Amino acid sequence: MPVWICAACGNHYPEAASPPAVCVICSDERQWVPPTGQRWTTIAELGAAGHRAEVRELEPGLLGIGTEPPFAIGQRALLVRTAEGNLLWDLPGFVDERAFQAVRDAGGLRAVSASHPHFYGAIVEWSHAFDAEILLPGADAAWLTRPDPAVRTWSGSLPLLPGVTLVQCGGHFAGSAVVHWADGAGGAGVLLSGDTIFVTPGEDRVTFVRSAPNRLPLPERAVRGVVEAVRPYRFDRIYGGWWGPVLRSDAHRVVERSAERYVQWLRGEAPAD
Ligand SMILES: [Zn+2]
Ligand SMILES: [Zn+2]
Repeated sequence: MPVWICAACGNHYPEAASPPAVCVICSDERQWVPPTGQRWTTIAELGAAGHRAEVRELEPGLLGIGTEPPFAIGQRALLVRTAEGNLLWDLPGFVDERAFQAVRDAGGLRAVSASHPHFYGAIVEWSHAFDAEILLPGADAAWLTRPDPAVRTWSGSLPLLPGVTLVQCGGHFAGSAVVHWADGAGGAGVLLSGDTIFVTPGEDRVTFVRSAPNRLPLPERAVRGVVEAVRPYRFDRIYGGWWGPVLRSDAHRVVERSAERYVQWLRGEAPAD
């Protein structure tokens, strides 16, 4: 019996003879069900259709693992490497032997986690392949569509590996999180933010969303909550959920400035021109 994968969001569902009737992730107001209806696929079918893992070194200590051609939401995973083990973050729905081998070559996995439920993808496949624990914020754990005994919940912040801390920010989801990686960007510090802090196409600002595809904003208190959660950390660069855009420098200041502008618009106080 196959593990069923939602073709729209890439999330996995338990092994069963037939796929579920609905994808709970896609029928939520933050995602979308295709007008042609929910469609299901499997790892084997995606591989047969020509999907392959794409592995790129993004900077020393950080590997990206995506899917070519892209599948579903199109996010790529990030592997943060440390002397005491590695964290894999924000998983695509597709995975293959090439992806597993890249992570084996990089020293394996201590843990898998994700910024939010849209990016849980093949998280359980990865956990099984490396006997790695699945770290999910307690507030979002019920969104995991393929439950597994390897799940450990956390909240607030979780120092996981040397210089690697999971930080719960809320906003997009109650458990939306980022990784703070102190050694990234040559020691200036990096955030891996998924959709928690959304890097925009010009790579010079960020935004905060309830839903990106459905263009839903967040209230002021949620935006302020995200900014307050990351403010204590030193960081200069932000990797979002995809290969690009990347906010390459000055990220701490850009987050504060972008949030202030966002709140001005929410309040109707932005000086428009
Ligand atoms: Zn779905
Ligand atoms: Zn999302």
